[in-house]
Amino acid sequence: MLSTPKGTHDLLPEDLSTWQFMEAMARETFARSNFQEIRTPILEYTELFARGVGDSTDIVNKEMYSFEKGDRQLTLRPENTAGVVRAYIQHGMDRWPKPVKLFYMGPQFRYERPQAGRQRQFHQVGAELFGIDTPQSDLTVIALAYDFLALLGLNNLSLEINNVGCFVCREDFKIKFKALVKPYLSELCEDCNKRYETNPLRMLDCKNPTCKAVYQRSDIQAFLNEDQTCSECQTHFQTLLDLLEKSEISAHRNKMLVRGLDYYTRTVFEITSNHLGAQNAVCGGGRYNGLVKTLGGPDTPAVGWAMGMERLISLIQKKDTLSLDYYVASDDLLSAQVLARKLRQQGYSVDLDLSGKALGKQLAQADKLGVRQVAILGESERLNGTVTLKDMTQKTQTTVPQESLFR
Ligand SMILES: [Zn+2]
Ligand SMILES: [Zn+2]
Repeated sequence: MLSTPKGTHDLLPEDLSTWQFMEAMARETFARSNFQEIRTPILEYTELFARGVGDSTDIVNKEMYSFEKGDRQLTLRPENTAGVVRAYIQHGMDRWPKPVKLFYMGPQFRYERPQAGRQRQFHQVGAELFGIDTPQSDLTVIALAYDFLALLGLNNLSLEINNVGCFVCREDFKIKFKALVKPYLSELCEDCNKRYETNPLRMLDCKNPTCKAVYQRSDIQAFLNEDQTCSECQTHFQTLLDLLEKSEISAHRNKMLVRGLDYYTRTVFEITSNHLGAQNAVCGGGRYNGLVKTLGGPDTPAVGWAMGMERLISLIQKKDTLSLDYYVASDDLLSAQVLARKLRQQGYSVDLDLSGKALGKQLAQADKLGVRQVAILGESERLNGTVTLKDMTQKTQTTVPQESLFR
């Protein structure tokens, strides 16, 4: 039997009612703050991700679905920010009124070992704000994420936040950090040793317990605790913390949070939900003032976040399947079809039996489908131009002229 490829799955009608609820809440949130949708291709040139995600990352090195077609190397997008930034540059959005506020929703692809909550085809929803460099714009996107999660019924959120500095002060930070960890290199894993050369900040992301223990050493912690960034970066961060407090979003500074990509500047953050008793990171984001320029565009500040939609689905209450307005039950299929179609033209959702069931079985079927009302069209109703309405929640029944159903 043929099945879906490993790490992918079908979304069946029963799953999709919850997905559609989540998507509707996302659209509602974005509309309220005037973030507008963008849809970029799933397929992009590989070099976009090599430059835009970073060729020292696992995503680019190990996890991308890439192939050659013609004489070009193509990739199924592993994330959506690079594509949005490419579109920003390609369509001259730096000439649009600032800030440019965009959101996206859609499938992403990474070749990883599938496990609970991690699929090879997964979905992300994300927001990006371009053109403004203030702490207020950082607050805007963080508050947007909070508002979306609240609409999903996810309460008990916590915000971990850090300041990773700018291009100027981070170079200095890297040099000092490398000097500090150099004596421990033999204790650190192969990945950390590699990152020491290519991208030392990412060493702090290592999940290896031995490495984690090294980074917890008092000399390294003391270094991280001292803010190593320049005074402009420190002012930006302090202002943001102040704004968050005034907005009643409690933030916890996590010095180990680095999101070690070169284009991140100043603010990086993660939102965790303590819903259902378990801690789950649901959102990651930050300021990435370097990315538009890295991809060949004008120097443009930007800040944004992304959320994994499978993770959100696992946390929100399952929504009931959409209930129908009417089920038309009749011993005469043609009459039922005519009435059903008239009701649909009025904007109602309507279903009926096509398999020739007896009237009693049709009523049982209607009950199973969870319809609001059954419109019964028996012989006497057909003769009199009436219809008997059975309210399935109140369990009441009335006979009315068919005309009265139409607005
Ligand atoms: Zn700085
Ligand atoms: Zn390591």
